Amino acid sequence: MSDIKCRVEECFYNNSEICQASTIEVKSRFRDHIVSNSDGTACETFAPKVKK
Ligand code: SF4
Repeated sequence: MSDIKCRVEECFYNNSEICQASTIEVKSRFRDHIVSNSDGTACETFAPKVKK
């Protein structure tokens, strides 16, 4: 289990606000923009939960 707390409950890897992915990749949200705070970042590993 990772130590990554994440509140994206819609993600397949999220279980009780803990990321279950073995690794994650985080990128800048906007190409050619300088990131100055967390709003400019985004998790590339996100995958939607499978709907039943
Ligand atoms: S993969 Fe990214 S969005 Fe999904 S639970 Fe982990 S940190 Fe959150």
